[in-house]
Amino acid sequence: MRVLVVEDELRMSDLIRQGLEEDGYAVDTVDNGKDVFFWVESTSYDYIVLDIMLPGMDGISVCSKLRKQGYTMNILILTARDAVSDRVSGLDAGADDYLVKPFAIEELTARLRALSRRIGPQKTVTLQVSDLILNTATKRAIRGNREIPTLTSKEYVLLETLMYYPNQVLTREQIIEKVWNWEYESESKLIEVYISSLRKKIDKDSSQKLIQTVRGMGYRISGND
Ligand code: CA
Repeated sequence: MRVLVVEDELRMSDLIRQGLEEDGYAVDTVDNGKDVFFWVESTSYDYIVLDIMLPGMDGISVCSKLRKQGYTMNILILTARDAVSDRVSGLDAGADDYLVKPFAIEELTARLRALSRRIGPQKTVTLQVSDLILNTATKRAIRGNREIPTLTSKEYVLLETLMYYPNQVLTREQIIEKVWNWEYESESKLIEVYISSLRKKIDKDSSQKLIQTVRGMGYRISGND
C-alpha cells in the first residue's frame, strides 16, 4: 500500500512517514499542494494524507481538483482542532475521512485500515504470482500451502512492488524509487540484501524460483522461467 503524505511541517511529515513505514506502508512526502499533481501522475497511490493549511494550494482545493480529475484513491485530510468548517468542506470536496491534529500515529494507521476495509471487495487486496499469494491488507504471504515467515516492512514493500508488476523487469532505479524513495544511493548493496532475504523466505523451499535476476537489467517476479 502506497501513501502520499502532503504536509508542510517537516517534523510532522517525518513523524507520519516514520509511523506509516513502520506499519509497512510505502511513503512519499511532498510539502506543498501544487506538487501533489505531479506525484499522482507518475505513481499510483492507495491513500493521500492531506493537510489543509499548505503553501501553493490548500488541501481542500487539492482534494476537489483530484476528484475532478477522476482520482479515486482514499483521501484523509488533517484539520486543525475546532475547524469544523474545514472538516465539512473537506468531506464535501471528496475526502473519505479526516483526522483532527494533534493525533496519535496509531490513530492514523487505524483510520487508513478502516478506509481500506470500506473499499470493499471490488478493490484487489491479494496479489498472486504462480502459487505465491500476497494479502496486501494483512501483509501475509502464502506459497502453495506454506505460510511465508513474517516479512519485515521493507521486505514487504519490495515484494509488493515486484508483484504489482508480474513478469516485468524492474530496474534497480525503479525499485529504489518505489521502495526507498531515493533515500539511498543506487550503488548501495541494499537491493541485493533485501532480494536475498526475500528469496530465503519465498523461494528457498520451492523448486520453482519466482524472484529472478535479469542480468544487467534488474529483477522480476514471474512464474515463467
Ligand atoms: Ca500545514
